[in-house]
Amino acid sequence: MSDCGCDEAQANLYELLRGELCAEESAPIREHLETCPGCQNEQSVCIQLTEVVRRACEEERENCAPVDLRDAILRGLRVESAG
Ligand SMILES: [Zn+2]
Repeated sequence: MSDCGCDEAQANLYELLRGELCAEESAPIREHLETCPGCQNEQSVCIQLTEVVRRACEEERENCAPVDLRDAILRGLRVESAG
């Protein structure tokens, strides 16, 4: 199992998806992904996770206020109206 290249492919999966690997580095990993269903599955999970994180970052930028700050503001409003 350990000699099939899965360890190396999965260890470099995020870098590959972010385009941080040069062609020389990514070629053997891409080759392995094409022949390994287990790593293809791992890759699709990584792509979904990357998408979720990217979307969350975009939404946060659009709203201009981080969630923590908004919560603090809402808590402050509640305290004022209660007092
Ligand atoms: Zn594999």
